[in-house]
Amino acid sequence: AFNFSPGPATLPEPVLRQAQAEMLEWRNARASVVELSHRGPEFLQVARQAEADLRMLLSIPDDYAVLFLQGGATAQQALIALNFAAPGQQADYVLTGHWGLTALKQAAPYVDARIAADGETGGYRDIPPRAGWRLSDDAAYVHYTANETIHGVEFREVPEVGNVPLFADFSSSIAAEPLDVSKFGLIYAGAQKNLGPVGIAVVIVRRDLLERAGQPRAPIFDYRAHLAGESMLNTPPTWNWYLLGLTVKWMLDEGGVAEFARRNARKAALLYQAIDGSGGFYRNEVAPAARSRMNVPFFLHDPALDAAFLGEAAEAGLISLKGHRVLGGMRASIYNAMPEAGVQALAAFMRDFQQRHG
Ligand code: PLP
Repeated sequence: AFNFSPGPATLPEPVLRQAQAEMLEWRNARASVVELSHRGPEFLQVARQAEADLRMLLSIPDDYAVLFLQGGATAQQALIALNFAAPGQQADYVLTGHWGLTALKQAAPYVDARIAADGETGGYRDIPPRAGWRLSDDAAYVHYTANETIHGVEFREVPEVGNVPLFADFSSSIAAEPLDVSKFGLIYAGAQKNLGPVGIAVVIVRRDLLERAGQPRAPIFDYRAHLAGESMLNTPPTWNWYLLGLTVKWMLDEGGVAEFARRNARKAALLYQAIDGSGGFYRNEVAPAARSRMNVPFFLHDPALDAAFLGEAAEAGLISLKGHRVLGGMRASIYNAMPEAGVQALAAFMRDFQQRHG
């Protein structure tokens, strides 16, 4: 089947096959990869290779640290406030969907979280024009969500925000295309869309920002402590880290982010054409310039057909197309691991369904 799940996402088949073999015995360690000590030489090699490969995949400059952490993207949304803002200091949030609001709520107990721009009035169907953003020079950071997984709104350019460090949630679009990391103070992403399995998050942070005092916090909530401990302050999620490493290596072997950018552009174009060319049978309501290449929400002209659409799609091997409960309708998530053949099959099914039910 082709799995259009928004996450925990599909992993590429070669990764699953390698993991299947190494689940039984990792190389000649006489133990499963899940049984290796995180302090032993075998796992240290796995962890260091994953970081080196991720640095290569995303062209991460040396003056950026990379952390592999638990707690998902949501924990990072709180930790960025604790680590980089003085108590009650202003932080500016640009909201283009559900996850931007989540980020603001997680930070709000620790900072003066201000909404610099809010797409909610337009139903989160577009990015508020940059000229109208209310940004403060005194803010600890400016936060935005690069790709809104539920609303299907994606920034195609990195916004210009002056001297205040730019922090971005890249959970659902990291590695979808080349990215100039040097434009950011911090990037975070839960792994479970493009980078591998759920259970591990990646934080990429400019090292000089780690010198900020932040707020009183336990070492386990302290990015500096995690960096000093090589992301092994406590027992790390070794299995997830290992799978992330395999997924990153697979992306490198496939040609890296430039190649995925080409594939993702073709996949998204095909799907949006299927929607826009349906004469209103299907519709996506996001402004074309802000449409996501990773998550494509769409609606049938008659919601009474939703159940038949989902049932027949599943029979055709196209699964997990049900939209998020916030929006309803359908959503096709087409992350890096989704082959072009999957999107072609979905577009063909949509045309066929329309012929039978239109
Ligand atoms: N940010 C975005 C853009 C997401 O898509 C998600 C989850 O889907 C999250 C944050 C929350 O991530 P987690 O469940 O890893 O905390």
